[in-house]
Amino acid sequence: MINLRCEGHDAEYEISNIINLFTPYIQDELQLETHYQKPKVYAKLKDGDLLLNEAIYPVKEIGDPLADKKALKQALKKAVYMTLTDYTNRKMPWGILTGIRPTKLVHELLEEGLNDEVIDAHLKAEYLVSANKRILMREVAKEELAILRQNKPEEISLYIGIPFCPTRCVYCSFTAYSLEKCEAQVEPYLEALFKEITFVAEAKKGVPIRSLYIGGGTPTSLNEDQLLCLLEHVKSSFDLSEVEEYTIEAGRPDTITKDKLRIMKEQGVGRISINPQSMNQKTLDTIGRRHGVEDIKRVFAEARALGHDCINMDMILGLPGETVADVAYTLDELEKLGPENITVHTMAIKRASRLKEELMAGEEAYALTEGEKIQQMLELCEERMARMGLKPYYMYRQKNMLGNFENVGYAAPGTQCVYNIEIMEEKESIIALGAGAITKMVYQNGERIDRIPNVKSLKDYIERIDEMIERKREGFLKYR
Ligand code: SF4
Repeated sequence: MINLRCEGHDAEYEISNIINLFTPYIQDELQLETHYQKPKVYAKLKDGDLLLNEAIYPVKEIGDPLADKKALKQALKKAVYMTLTDYTNRKMPWGILTGIRPTKLVHELLEEGLNDEVIDAHLKAEYLVSANKRILMREVAKEELAILRQNKPEEISLYIGIPFCPTRCVYCSFTAYSLEKCEAQVEPYLEALFKEITFVAEAKKGVPIRSLYIGGGTPTSLNEDQLLCLLEHVKSSFDLSEVEEYTIEAGRPDTITKDKLRIMKEQGVGRISINPQSMNQKTLDTIGRRHGVEDIKRVFAEARALGHDCINMDMILGLPGETVADVAYTLDELEKLGPENITVHTMAIKRASRLKEELMAGEEAYALTEGEKIQQMLELCEERMARMGLKPYYMYRQKNMLGNFENVGYAAPGTQCVYNIEIMEEKESIIALGAGAITKMVYQNGERIDRIPNVKSLKDYIERIDEMIERKREGFLKYR
């Protein structure tokens, strides 16, 4: 544990984020004294009165108050990082970069007209990012920019949330209700959702839609009739003739039937997700999935037979009890299937997950995988994706992510998911419908973003649907 003291600056929050990266590796109770005395910052790590080590960094001030404040924080983060790196003998893959969108920084540097070499040197010197992650950042940023440059003014994307799943996975922190408990709510939910769809379609009549994403939860938790009804309502409400991408996150194989796959295909869905997370049966059992590895393979084959030619598969690194060999096995199995997209998630222990509760209660079955192992798993994924001809095209990070790593989407050329990039980079408005969905109205190429949230609770959403619609009406009018 580290007790922090700050003098002459107000960067406590930023420094705490750096300390958090090293916390798992520090057992002793230590003091970290940081102070700013123009033109330098100092970080001293102490055990009582004993000075363990010290780092001093110059602050590059240019006379602009905002830029100087940023430079001061940057110097403090570096000094603290170096002190803790020396003490723990560990470097962090992302250096002092703690934000969730690392590629935003590369976009800015590319827009300044800087070349790869200069960008690489900047990320290394200013943010202490490792060589691997610098390459990843540049590759992803370029893929993203190629998609974002095709955004048209006035264009929007749509998100529709179906917050039901057959059971709740141990790591879940999404708006997802177990069907076992909430089946009776499905019809009232759809009724409310249809009302919201009708309103948005009317309010945005004539506005071009670039991508449409139906996510959750697991949309295929709906039965065949409900799914057909939803997709028909979407089709008759919006003009989908110009939509570049229409995705449904089918997600869990235990919810997918041949009929649902056929309905999706007939209704114009062009991209689906079938998410194994792991191809190891013991892991699926541990995390609360009620389906087998064979179900994943069967559903994938059925989807292909029905003409689904853009399939994403999600996998998660750091699942309870998984080793690097288990991940290698999952990758072998995915390679045999040959999906167009694979999204590699690193386990994030979020506030709302059952996993977090069980970890706190000391459940050994869910023991965390260490950072080094995750790093090896990530490297293995990079290698194997390249072998499968898949390139990284989008990336994000979450707080509390194991080992301070990232989630990366890989895609075969020409199959990158537009929606994933739009939601991450916030350059186009996304109108989001359903419980817990948050609309983001984006203006001036992302300079201004206004959020219109829907209530998260299923009950509230159903009961207060008119209020949700009113929120949207006001939001749309305000920023027309
Ligand atoms: S399938 Fe996804 S949304 Fe559903 S419970 Fe599992 S993690 Fe949550």
